[in-house]
Amino acid sequence: MTVYLVGAGPGDPELLTVKASRVLQGADVVLHDSLVDARVLGLAPAGALLIDVGKRCGTRATAQSDINRLICYHAGAGGTVVRLKGGDPMIFGRADEELAALQAAGIACEVVPGVTAATAAAAALGLSLTKRQVSRALHILTGHGADGALPAHHWVALANAGGTLALYMGARQITGVAAHLIEAGLPPRTPAVAVESASLPAQRIIRGDIAGLGKALSEAPPLGPVIVLIGEALAGRRAALVEQIRFAADAAACAPAG
Ligand code: SAH
Repeated sequence: MTVYLVGAGPGDPELLTVKASRVLQGADVVLHDSLVDARVLGLAPAGALLIDVGKRCGTRATAQSDINRLICYHAGAGGTVVRLKGGDPMIFGRADEELAALQAAGIACEVVPGVTAATAAAAALGLSLTKRQVSRALHILTGHGADGALPAHHWVALANAGGTLALYMGARQITGVAAHLIEAGLPPRTPAVAVESASLPAQRIIRGDIAGLGKALSEAPPLGPVIVLIGEALAGRRAALVEQIRFAADAAACAPAG
């Protein structure tokens, strides 16, 4: 029996690692999050058992303890089990709980990392999350604490750390996050960008500053997953340039030969 804990990346199937693609193609059972793109799931063999254990926007599809039991149960049956999670499994993916359950059951597991939402969003923006003299740190934090409330982060430390903040699961809490950060000393004009559905056709970029991003998001409510990036490294706009490059490349590819 083999279990792979696999990162599916942010959505675009081309961002799957070669290894993730290979283990998926050999899977007997795939237990996947709801956010995983259908084209990624399509890599599993036709006869593979696909089980959606995901939860979306607070609706709990399968309790974590049941997911742990399901993984162990299917692994015990002897096949190759792939536990497929959005982005990277080790970032806000409860991978530790699943690894602990597997360890307790004496089942070996290999983790296959994936492209996480923060770096997919940076790629979409054409902006680096770290920047010489400007951003020497990257902080990954969640806006979703126990019972959906904003977690009690050390806002003063975050506001004064001088790096980029990558806020996962925080679109609904952005106004509260902004209020805490501004109260803790972060300048209200600090650049803040929300990237919805990074790497997917529905990708949307909402730019602003930390004081105004909540309003901008409420005026155009997102439908897909959103990551919010905050910090001076997000100043500037390079996405237009990236788009131009892509457009030029597409035009060249479409140009008649000769
Ligand atoms: N393990 C995942 C994160 C899971 S938590 C990873 O490494 O990316 C789920 C949160 O991830 C979402 O609420 C959102 O904040 C972020 N997210 C996941 N996919 C995303 C995408 N394609 N675009 C923007 N944010 C995304």
